[in-house]
Amino acid sequence: NPNKTFEYRIMPYGEEHLLLIARDITRVSQLEEMRKDFVANVSHELRTPLTVINGYLEIIPMDEDADPFMQKAMKEMTAQTHRMQNLIEDLLVLSRIEASSERIYENVVNMPAVLKQIELEANTLNKEKQHTIRFHVAPDLQVYGVETEIRSACSNLVFNAVHYTPAKGEINVHWQSTPQGARFSVVDNGEGIEPGHLNRLTERFYRVDKARSRKTGGSGLGLSIVKHVLSHHNSRLEITSTVGEGSQFSFVLDKELIAEQE
Ligand code: ADP
Repeated sequence: NPNKTFEYRIMPYGEEHLLLIARDITRVSQLEEMRKDFVANVSHELRTPLTVINGYLEIIPMDEDADPFMQKAMKEMTAQTHRMQNLIEDLLVLSRIEASSERIYENVVNMPAVLKQIELEANTLNKEKQHTIRFHVAPDLQVYGVETEIRSACSNLVFNAVHYTPAKGEINVHWQSTPQGARFSVVDNGEGIEPGHLNRLTERFYRVDKARSRKTGGSGLGLSIVKHVLSHHNSRLEITSTVGEGSQFSFVLDKELIAEQE
């Protein structure tokens, strides 16, 4: 039946036989499609009113001797509107990646250039924290992939390290060739993560410390975006962490994806 979606599993059955199990997941996948469409549409619809609110907030004049309560209220409204805009942008990015059918072998991503840009941005983020951020990048290591997606995965991992590492931290970013393929990793000496949280981190909106994460301004969608990007590139996120010592987030892009190497 062409209108049905099945999930198949093959299992050994006795010495000489194989058992094929087909599960009808038509309803589940229809609901999943509806959920994705709904999230994408709502996010898109919320964008316009927010842009209008933000536009007005930016042009309302506030002089030095304005009522302190009004000044505080304006500042808070502006901050919260920006937070909502970031959240909506991340929801749209996530919807786009979930629906992405862009072929990964069609374009070469110039990773050294992408990482240079991320390095510049990382150094302007939370400058007051005075982190030491080092990038160790193999100069000719390029890969096939979707540039916007790979850029977004790498920057989310680097910016998280900046956010979740207390002042004067050390962050090392590596992009190197290994026998398995091209490996990207971000190592920080920040707060670390309890083992119980590790396999839930890539769920949408999952945060270890809800109150504190909200203050960092993140949407709670960053690692979920990373997970989808990597699955689109046949890879997956690996996380190792020790509380009080730091964390390492890494992924390997299969050697078949390596485009050019000196
Ligand atoms: P957020 O917008 O909250 O940063 P993410 O999906 O990027 O959302 O991350 C999910 C949670 O994982 C964060 O709220 C934080 O608790 C934890 N986390 C991510 N990166 C790190 C890190 N480098 N060190 C410690 N905790 C981290």
